[in-house]
Amino acid sequence: MKGLRTIQPYVPGEQPKLKDIIKLNTNENAYPPSPRVIEAWQTFDPKQLRCYSALANPDLVNALADKHQVPSQWITTTNGSDDSLALAFQSFFQSDDSIVFPDLTYGFYSVWCELFHIPYQEVPLAADFTFDLSQLPEKIGGIVLANPNAPTGIGKPAAEIEKLLQAYPDCVVIVDEAYQVFGGESVIPLVEKYDNLYVTRTFSKDAALAGLRVGYGIGGERLTGVIQAVKNSYNPYAVDSIAEHLATAAAKDVSYYEEINQKICATREDFIAALSQLGFITLPSQTNFVLTTHPLVSAQLLFETLKAAAIFVRYFPEKERIANYLRITIGTDEEMDQVVTVLKKVIEETT
Ligand SMILES: *Cc1c(COP(=O)(O)O)cnc(C)c1O
Repeated sequence: MKGLRTIQPYVPGEQPKLKDIIKLNTNENAYPPSPRVIEAWQTFDPKQLRCYSALANPDLVNALADKHQVPSQWITTTNGSDDSLALAFQSFFQSDDSIVFPDLTYGFYSVWCELFHIPYQEVPLAADFTFDLSQLPEKIGGIVLANPNAPTGIGKPAAEIEKLLQAYPDCVVIVDEAYQVFGGESVIPLVEKYDNLYVTRTFSKDAALAGLRVGYGIGGERLTGVIQAVKNSYNPYAVDSIAEHLATAAAKDVSYYEEINQKICATREDFIAALSQLGFITLPSQTNFVLTTHPLVSAQLLFETLKAAAIFVRYFPEKERIANYLRITIGTDEEMDQVVTVLKKVIEETT
């Protein structure tokens, strides 16, 4: 047939329907959403669904403006942050020069470049999986950084990103802060000073609302103007009224989320220490997951043994540099204890 598109889609982690599994493969939050979200769910009036959601989601935008201490005009709400990122790729990368991002980063970036016909170049991370920003080509069409990065878990100080914003004033730098609250440094305070900075955020990871599909972008007036024109060219009501109502409640509950996310960070450090006892080498993480490898036991065997024990983690056999690593989301202490028990057994049996 004429005109059909061929494209290799992004492949997300599995969402198995089985009960009683330990799901540590898509970096969802280990804890339930805020009690205020549960309350908001109960007070939502379904009759409201007769109407479209409020254009530009003012309740949510105002709560976020408060939370981040930025003008509400800088915020654009979207259907998950994937939607913010896809919009940003379409809005900011229309030049003929290649955009750049690391060879190991969020798999969606290259998929969007293919989908939207954006030329791109993947810059190799150093051997220790850090990203040397001083080595970027001179003539580029834009930069995309997940900070902290995924699947490495490694973050960059805001000061380094600021240098980049200064070095490339004529192109847009997108900073994807999906994991910032787990130990990264936010560049949102730099938006006021740099009109080439666009930051994306999500409720999926740190607000325990992956199923609700709410994200947002923060940028100055110029970039936000372009983003909103593109958003309003295909889906102005990207955040439905239920999602807006619940996400607004989440945005207002700072203390609950600080508590659970700090707990996740503490669990992460305990887990890294336990892995080290078993001989694993784990990258330092500023996220709610770790990337780890064992010098004597293959990632494939570890992955399959965990899966047989109903523990789902992620591994990337198709990506050569990390083919022998596992990416494990940080769950509750109890879940991580079970992971350690299974890993300990397989390591004792095979080494
Ligand atoms: C999970 C994730 C996202 C987007 O998640 P949404 O659920 O679409 O908000 C964006 N970037 C990175 C690096 C992620 O890991």
